Amino acid sequence: MPETTKAAVLTEDGRTYAPHEAVIEASRCLMCEDPPCNTGCPASVDVRRFIRKIRFGNFRGAARLIREANIMVGVCGRVCPQEMLCMENCTRAQLDTPIDIAGLQRFAGDVELAGLAPVPEAGAKRDARVAVIGAGPAGLGAAAELAKAGVGVTIFEKADAPGGVLTHGIPPFRLDPAFATDEFSYVERLGVMTKYGAKADPAALLGEGFDAVFVGIGLGRPYTIGLDGEDLDGVHIAGELLARVAAGETPSLGEDVVVIGGGNVAMDAAMTALRLGAANVHLCSLESHEEMPAFRSEIDEVQSEGVAFHTRTMPVRILGESGKVVGYEGVGIRWKTPGLLVPSNAEQIPGTGFGLKADAVIEAIGTGVLDRFEGVETDQRGVIKVDEETMKTSMDRVFAGGDIANGGATAVLAYGEGKRAAGAIIEMLDRESGKGGGA
Ligand SMILES: Cc1cc2nc3c(=O)[nH]c(=O)nc-3n(C[C@H](O)[C@H](O)[C@H](O)COP(=O)(O)OP(=O)(O)OC[C@H]3O[C@@H](n4cnc5c(N)ncnc54)[C@H](O)[C@@H]3O)c2cc1C
Ligand code: SF4
Repeated sequence: MPETTKAAVLTEDGRTYAPHEAVIEASRCLMCEDPPCNTGCPASVDVRRFIRKIRFGNFRGAARLIREANIMVGVCGRVCPQEMLCMENCTRAQLDTPIDIAGLQRFAGDVELAGLAPVPEAGAKRDARVAVIGAGPAGLGAAAELAKAGVGVTIFEKADAPGGVLTHGIPPFRLDPAFATDEFSYVERLGVMTKYGAKADPAALLGEGFDAVFVGIGLGRPYTIGLDGEDLDGVHIAGELLARVAAGETPSLGEDVVVIGGGNVAMDAAMTALRLGAANVHLCSLESHEEMPAFRSEIDEVQSEGVAFHTRTMPVRILGESGKVVGYEGVGIRWKTPGLLVPSNAEQIPGTGFGLKADAVIEAIGTGVLDRFEGVETDQRGVIKVDEETMKTSMDRVFAGGDIANGGATAVLAYGEGKRAAGAIIEMLDRESGKGGGA
């Protein structure tokens, strides 16, 4: 396949509502008295109100309302697993189908961004400075909320652009990195200072005089399986491969590709392999369909694209010739203890071995913690322990949220945790200035 064709299929498909379609979809909303959609949103978006605004044609007003709660309007409209959040208990489902909340949010975000979103009024300036480490969804949620409350905020981000995994991991056909970067830069319009290429540490920032630090560094160390043949040419770590694709590369994987894993990253890797020109993509997971941790909508999409699933199987080895991958061997498993879905609980079933032809094998078996900070308490995996109400860590004046504190979940949950931490920081600053102690 020529490179230009590959590049084209790697871009977003642009599906969004036309204005009249958005009004029709919004008109299906029952405007529930006590709307379950609102309680399902970790970023506290007032779903019912924004749908009402779309219904009456106030598209920009809808976007503005969402952006007050969550600056990632269009981004969340694209990547949120709405079927397990706002849409999960939508009352309209009792009549026919739930409201397409994410689709409407995406529409509102696109309309607003095209006309440049106005900046909301910030609260009175406070004599306080807060550092945010990481410009992923968690860091952006904390920074936006603090800036709106008049706090001076500086984000330290080791990469060269904001967005975290959303710009460096999610494939461009699901979220256009240029669109995402544009939307994330809204945080700068709120007055937040951003320092890119800046790796930071909370103790050092407190030493520099910041009044508080929010840590939103995500998870950055992909796990590997340790299989025979893992060092062959053609074996890829999903996170690294997806980052290359997000940066605009179109690596050639060959005709036959095996993806190992049952999470969202595995699903993205499988869809990416197809778009890079693979004719046959096999997805091998320990879990059954029902047990897979990936979002249901992603599993359905991958299946509909023709990926072959080999569920309840585990890898045995990767086969090679002349230093290059040529095949994959797996075997069926059962769980020794039902319901405990971890590799150490998998037992091979004799006589169920199978082989697949492979030009590439992509490992997508999870991500662990990359950096730990002296003095900040973590669990065994390195996930930072926090008070769930305030997101405060064991280190004085240091708060944390997002994947580094919840072990890995969703973008909107990370954003919501950043907001929650910001609320607790503001309360702390208020308490201190009320005592006349300043920051
Ligand atoms: C391939 C893939 C697909 C996904 N798909 C979805 C999806 O469809 N929907 C969804 O809701 N979620 C999805 N997720 C999960 C979602 O992306 C994460 O839950 C979310 O990005 C977590 O946000 P975060 O801010 O905690 O961390 P991250 O997004 O990881 O951001 C952390 C940031 O901190 C920076 N950083 C790290 N250490 C330092 C340091 N010491 N100093 C300065 N900066 C530092 C990093 O460079 C990074 O920019 C997906 C994840 C992956 C990997
Ligand atoms: S639950 Fe569904 S029908 Fe009810 S207000 Fe929310 S989106 Fe509308």
